[in-house]
Amino acid sequence: MLSEKSWRISLTQRCNYKCFFCHEEGSVMSKERTVIDEDVLYEMILEGIQNGFEQFNFTGGEPLYEKKIIISLLKKLAAEGKTPEITIGTNGTMIDDLLLDAMKAYPGKIKFNCSMHAVDEETYLKIISLSQKGIFNHVVGHIQRAVEIEIPVKLNFVLLKGINNSKEYIQKIFDFAIEKRVQTLKFLELLITDKLIYLYDYYYEVDSIAAMFPDDLYLISNEIKRNVYRYKDTDLIIELQKCPCKMGCNTCQQVAGRMLTSDGYYFPCFTLVNNAIKLDQYTQKEAFAKGDQLIKTMGRRYKNGSPLIIQKIQHIKKKKEYYYEVNSTDQNFESWCGVLKNKGANLVMKRTFKEIYFKPQMPNEDWDKNQMIFKVYQNTYNGYKHNHVLAFNKLIEEGGHIYTEVTYLTEKEDARIDDYEEFVKKTFEKKMEITMECNWEINFFEYKGVPFSVGEHLESGMWTLLCEQPFNSEELLGLKSSNVKTNLISFLEKLKLKN
Ligand code: SF4
Ligand code: SF4
Repeated sequence: MLSEKSWRISLTQRCNYKCFFCHEEGSVMSKERTVIDEDVLYEMILEGIQNGFEQFNFTGGEPLYEKKIIISLLKKLAAEGKTPEITIGTNGTMIDDLLLDAMKAYPGKIKFNCSMHAVDEETYLKIISLSQKGIFNHVVGHIQRAVEIEIPVKLNFVLLKGINNSKEYIQKIFDFAIEKRVQTLKFLELLITDKLIYLYDYYYEVDSIAAMFPDDLYLISNEIKRNVYRYKDTDLIIELQKCPCKMGCNTCQQVAGRMLTSDGYYFPCFTLVNNAIKLDQYTQKEAFAKGDQLIKTMGRRYKNGSPLIIQKIQHIKKKKEYYYEVNSTDQNFESWCGVLKNKGANLVMKRTFKEIYFKPQMPNEDWDKNQMIFKVYQNTYNGYKHNHVLAFNKLIEEGGHIYTEVTYLTEKEDARIDDYEEFVKKTFEKKMEITMECNWEINFFEYKGVPFSVGEHLESGMWTLLCEQPFNSEELLGLKSSNVKTNLISFLEKLKLKN
């Protein structure tokens, strides 16, 4: 059994922010949850205290949606003479005097962990994906109020490459903390689960901050998952916390706390959301022992790595992609997509894509014979550009269909790269040249378990359908096969001509 440290209790999955990198506590929060009965939650906490837990962190979503429960729990704990350390992890919008009074009256240690991520309104709004002017100052006001009445505040900043990671911006954060008399800053690494792989571009190591300020940060403690520094000769403490999964599943048992949700589930691992353990079927000790077994299995499997994509693992994967040009009588791409939806296809997501095609300046015979295509996809999400999968496509004709055999060359499937031209140069000794750039509006659908996408080529107005299995007019939405051409080469030629 782990040496018990802390519990994170997610009180709700609701949040009034939409931070673009939100991992929703490892994706477990996306499903609708009922909030546990307050008395049951209180009993769970008492059992936790009995089992040696000394810290309880209330998280969400935004836990202050359940402010009443928090206030009531604080009162009950105090009345029973139980004073575990309490941390409220909040975005700060809903802090009010009622809560501050209850925190002030709590006899044990209690503090806020407030997610800031930015110290100017423009960046802040961009991160939280809202346009509510004034909300930044509103939150800053709440932080100042807490500091005034001596409730400790730690400000959390997820380090985001290109957004808040420059030396100038980090300096601004230090200055902000000192001006607002905040005690602690914590910089965290982005947690990239498989559902958030498009965030790879923003990943930046927290250790880089120590490297940026070698003369200003004095190391005062050094733990497995974080290094703690003092800033110059001030009282400001800076924590640089690595993503726990980066250190590998082998280490997880030593560094991770217990993660519970308010509807009574224990999640031993961020990535295994289906392995949650319902606490009403076991005692906490039994549930945690089961969780430890699961983490050990992860440790045996991944050793010093983990399934998260920040691991540097060479990833080469092949898959088939069948392309079709679609002729439809519809005049408008969106209305045609509407027809697909009416026929029962589920729209999964929409993306704007750019494809950049390369070929060697001096293609060899193999290249020509196999009709190789080399390309980079670039998509736009939330206003940010993502360069991603680099792939070799080899054209193959089989049974009346033409498909591309795709070989991914990045460190991990769907891993992102910063500078694709540089990457291309580094990856291949032969010089590559860009032969074509295409912009696409893509709608991703799923129909009877078969994923497929339809795209509009914005330069030419052509529509295409892409599927990982041969398109079958009977199985897929009853589209007539005469509406579909299976000729990718002529399709690419057409794109070239129209570019
Ligand atoms: S405030 Fe926290 S829970 Fe809410 S969207 Fe942002 S990261 Fe997610
Ligand atoms: S078991 Fe591995 S993947 Fe799961 S939380 Fe721990 S380190 Fe991360």
